[in-house]
Amino acid sequence: MSPQTDQLYILLTNDDGVHAPGLRVLEEALSARWDTVVVAPDREQSASSHSLTLHHPLRVQQLGEKRFSVDGTPTDCVMLGMHGLLPRTPNLIISGINHGSNLGDDVIYSGTVAAAVEGCLLGGASIAISLVPSDDNGFDLRQAEEVACAVVAETIRNGLKKDYLLNVNIPPGPPGSAKGYRVSRLGRRTYREGIFKDTDPRGKPYYWIGGQDPAWVGGEDTDFKAIEDGYVSLTPLRLDWTDETGMGLLQGWELIDINGCGPAERAEV
Ligand SMILES: [Mg+2]
Repeated sequence: MSPQTDQLYILLTNDDGVHAPGLRVLEEALSARWDTVVVAPDREQSASSHSLTLHHPLRVQQLGEKRFSVDGTPTDCVMLGMHGLLPRTPNLIISGINHGSNLGDDVIYSGTVAAAVEGCLLGGASIAISLVPSDDNGFDLRQAEEVACAVVAETIRNGLKKDYLLNVNIPPGPPGSAKGYRVSRLGRRTYREGIFKDTDPRGKPYYWIGGQDPAWVGGEDTDFKAIEDGYVSLTPLRLDWTDETGMGLLQGWELIDINGCGPAERAEV
């Protein structure tokens, strides 16, 4: 992949929908410096994870010279953007700016992160960018815009690399309020009473996933702690989920062979 900026082609997407303010801010800021194109869902797809639409056709609507909406998931958008919808293949994929954090286990459920993962799977360098809401649930995008531009510029300056997947979370507040940047690892969510149960008007029970605000556990080096301390959190992620320790444990298993031979018989062979 070439690090030359004159060959740079940035695909912008999100999971909040093509009209979300976070995506608009990102588009306006980055398109002033680089060649960008937006391919994003036509409606909110938060918490859609890595869902891919296989059982019905996808419709694309061109909203502008470099703006497309898709009636699908964030993963669908990146798949189309990297495979045929556009005149050339993007080499940098940026997902966000998400309205809400994507910390710790959130990355498993997040449509924002999934879009970045898909871009990475398809050969591009990828960044997911999320803004933590303020206590009154507000989203001041000005600081997030500055951070996004700085992170993208530094990513480009270092040369786009294969398997580059970065998860960025930005604390709430006006420009200049963040204390700085902190490289972090994923923490763990702990959900308390996460399922709300009640009865609908027809007397049938229903369940609502969410409940109380989740807490977190983990050390000083986690993304949760970075945000709690007022820093921008930078967490490099990887696609390979293989657990090397688990591989070692499995080497010691004595499974029955699928043809019926036990471990002892197998050992005699
Ligand atoms: Mg979202």
